[in-house]
Formats: sequence, C-alpha cells, structure tokens
Amino acid sequence: MPGGPRDLSADQLGAILTEIGEEMSEREDRGRVASYIPELAGVDPARFGMALALPDGQVLSTGDAAVGFSIQSVSKVFALAIALGRLGDQLWDRVGREPSGNPFNSILQLEHENGIPRNPFINAGAIVVTDAILTGHPPKALLGEILDFIRDAAGDENIHINEAVARSETETGHLNMALAHFIAAHGNLRNPVEMVLGAYFHQCAIEMSCVQLARAGRFLIAAPGAPRIVSLARVRRINALMLTCGHYDASGDFAYRVGLPGKSGVGGGILAVAPGRAAIAVWSPGLNARGNSALGSEAMEMLAKRTGWSVFG
Ligand code: GLN
Repeated sequence: MPGGPRDLSADQLGAILTEIGEEMSEREDRGRVASYIPELAGVDPARFGMALALPDGQVLSTGDAAVGFSIQSVSKVFALAIALGRLGDQLWDRVGREPSGNPFNSILQLEHENGIPRNPFINAGAIVVTDAILTGHPPKALLGEILDFIRDAAGDENIHINEAVARSETETGHLNMALAHFIAAHGNLRNPVEMVLGAYFHQCAIEMSCVQLARAGRFLIAAPGAPRIVSLARVRRINALMLTCGHYDASGDFAYRVGLPGKSGVGGGILAVAPGRAAIAVWSPGLNARGNSALGSEAMEMLAKRTGWSVFG
C-alpha cells in the first residue's frame, strides 16, 4: 500500500502501532539520553511508547505509552497557543516565524537579529513567549494556567510539574540564562530574567505520558469531534510553525521524512498532528545528533508511511 491517505479503522491503526512497538523493542542503537539536565540523565534508554488519539478521544497505544516523561520543549506548543490567545499578532513584534537552521539552544542569530529570536520553538523564542504571557501574572498563576490548558485539552487532571527536574535545570541552565540575559540586554524581556527562567524551566518540567500527550494534542487536529479550544485559523498557524520549526535544524528532514507538523523535546518526546485524523505522541529518551528522539523520529516516519498520512497530499 504505497502512499495515499487511508481511512483506517481503529483496529488497523492499533495493529500498526503494535508492529512499530515490536520493531523498536529490538533496536540496539537507541541514541543518547540528554545529560545536560542532570535529573534527566538517569532515564532508561530502553523505554519506548507511542499513542495515537482520534478526534473523538479514543486512544490506541503501544509499549510504555502510559509512563510519564518530561515533555520539555513540547510544552512550547501549549505556551504558544496561550500566547497567541492573549496577545494575538502582537506576539510577532517580539519573536519571528522563520526556521532557524540552528540547534535549539543556539545564541548565534540573536546578536545579528537584535535579541528578536527566530521562532517560538527554539529556546530563545520560547523564553520570550513565556515572558510575554508572564506579564501581569505571578509565575505560579501562569504555571497554573499552562497546566489547566493542558489538562483541559487532555481531559485529564492528573498532569503535574516534576519539581526535581525544574530544580535540576535551574541549577545548571547556564546557556538558557545567557540567552535570557542577552534578550533582556536588547530590551526584549519585560520581566526579571530569574522570574522568566523560573517559569520557563517549570513549564519544560511538565510530565505527561504518551497517552496524555496525544489526547492533549487533539485540539490541533481540527476535525469534528476534536476539542475546539483554539480557533481553526490559529490551529493552522500553530501547525505551520510546528512543521517549519518544531525540530530545530532537523525540521526540514522531519517534514521530508514524516510530512506532518511535529514538536520534539529533549526528554525524548514528540507530538505530531495528522490534520483531520489524529494526534500522535511518541517517547523514546535516546536522542539523535540534533537533539530529537532517535527512535521517536523513526517511529513517526514508519507511522506516516504505513498510514499514508501526510499534509502534502
Ligand atoms: N528545557 C530544555 C532547555 O531549555 C528544553 C530544550 C528542548 O527540549 N529541546 O534546554
């Protein structure tokens, strides 16, 4: 069955996931677990989970799909949705919408571009987004709002921040501190650096399972039956940014190989969207050279091939 989207039954989709899970369990080369956040360094690289949520909320899954992991940069999708809701197009005065072609934590372009980060999904851009939604709210209230948004989207109250992970990054996140101070020096932060980073590190430390993440991603499917917590026009824009910027300097490769909007995190999670069909979450903590889940990226490619799902026809 090469190419072409297929209308697959839940049973068929479940069988595809089971096959992918089995193939992944045999892999020996699983990438390297992120160690620059010490609390993440001990996560077992043998883990693999995948879940697919249909618009109506039905979830199919395989492997460790019910095990919680640190969503890290996948949180940037939810923060962006909140920021666009609150600021609308004014957000784009402070952050761009172009792929960076650079690693997630790069500081290079910031100097040339006067402290305006390329896009909301690299660290620098996400720090500006967090600052934008922090204004007028104590950090605790903002984190509560981000959690409420995610819990609402997932229809699951049992989603929390892992304080140990947040603390671990607060103690070691020198590169992010450098980014934030650089942005502040260019006048593009409205709140104190420590406060913005505290909120940003806590937002990254949200823990979810693949099942919860796939369910939370349903608002991006834009199909009848899926939750409509963000307008259709905005969903399209968030998906466009996920496609062009969601995997940093591997965004082009992910678009080429998978053909679906996706957002990765250094915890090894990826959230992808098959518009009109499903939200898909995968987790495998070992990363490839670009800082994206190695097996997770491959699993998304397998799923796209076997379902024929693609935003490109
Ligand atoms: N909290 C991580 C950081 O800022 C998130 C990066 C990521 O997931 N790519 O370094």
